Amino acid sequence: MIEQLDQLYQDALTTLETAASTAVLEAWYRDTLGRKGSVQLLTRQVGGLSPEERPAFGKRVNEVKEALQQAYDGRAEHLKLAEIEAAIARDTLDVTLPGRSTTHGNLHVATKTLREIYKIWADMGFQVFRSRDVETDEYNFELLNIPQHHPARDMWDTFHTLTPGVILRTHTSPGQIHAMRTYAPEAIRVILPGMCYRYEQITARSEIQFHQVEGLAVGKNITFADLKGTLTSFARRMFGEQRKVRFRANYFPFTEPSAEMDVECILCNGNGCNVCKHSGWLEILGCGMVHPNVFRNGGYDPEEYSGYAFGMGPERIAMLKYGIEDIRYFWGNDLRFLEQF
Ligand SMILES: [Zn+2]
Repeated sequence: MIEQLDQLYQDALTTLETAASTAVLEAWYRDTLGRKGSVQLLTRQVGGLSPEERPAFGKRVNEVKEALQQAYDGRAEHLKLAEIEAAIARDTLDVTLPGRSTTHGNLHVATKTLREIYKIWADMGFQVFRSRDVETDEYNFELLNIPQHHPARDMWDTFHTLTPGVILRTHTSPGQIHAMRTYAPEAIRVILPGMCYRYEQITARSEIQFHQVEGLAVGKNITFADLKGTLTSFARRMFGEQRKVRFRANYFPFTEPSAEMDVECILCNGNGCNVCKHSGWLEILGCGMVHPNVFRNGGYDPEEYSGYAFGMGPERIAMLKYGIEDIRYFWGNDLRFLEQF
């Protein structure tokens, strides 16, 4: 039995030397020195020995156990160091590899267009005047020369609130009255940007919400020529120095006379394409001289002061500029669209 024990000892040592991972090592320990391991199993056979043989066998078992335990500890230490070294080698930073780029967010195309418009008007001496999205019927219509039952109200389909007379503004024009009631007439060179809301069927061409940038300039002796000059300058800064513009007569209740401004098509340079419907022109804003009634409602004397107002749609401008065919993309939150700008 002592020979059997010695053979087991030798075999166990050989196997231990080849244990190449902590997992294999633990399995070796379980099979050899564990409670149901081979050494333990052999020890239980001590009952089959004669009383004289037992002490020598017991002594040898203890020696073998101790030697194997030592061999195991040594091997475990060795493997642990090897694994740490391997981990260090694996995690070494290779500074010559290309880095991972981080994903950057970017501005919404409507915000970009708005900022472009703000910058141009700021360069021309206009400051931003903001007013609220929720308005009264009085500010949104009546003070802008659109009384109750006026047929022009049909131009704006309105979102009403549960509070009578309180609506979502259908245009940024009520800001004109707020600005006039806030500033002295000589100080008015403002643009009034903001979201507007209309109760409309949502289609590729119309949305229930969209931005507008309104503008207002007031002073003594401001004429229609000032309006034309300023808006032409804006169009050239926005769409290019050589860009041609034209004004067409129109009707708005809060300006008189009123006009719409077209720019030479920015996609085909006036040669005719699908976007300009082969006319060579794109309508980009409405404008006119402030109506005397609006001046009176703002607290200014129309006999003393004159001025012009205009309004444009940044989303419409962005659609023309980038060839966006469907206005629903703007508020659809589709990254495939938004990431293109
Ligand atoms: Zn065109």
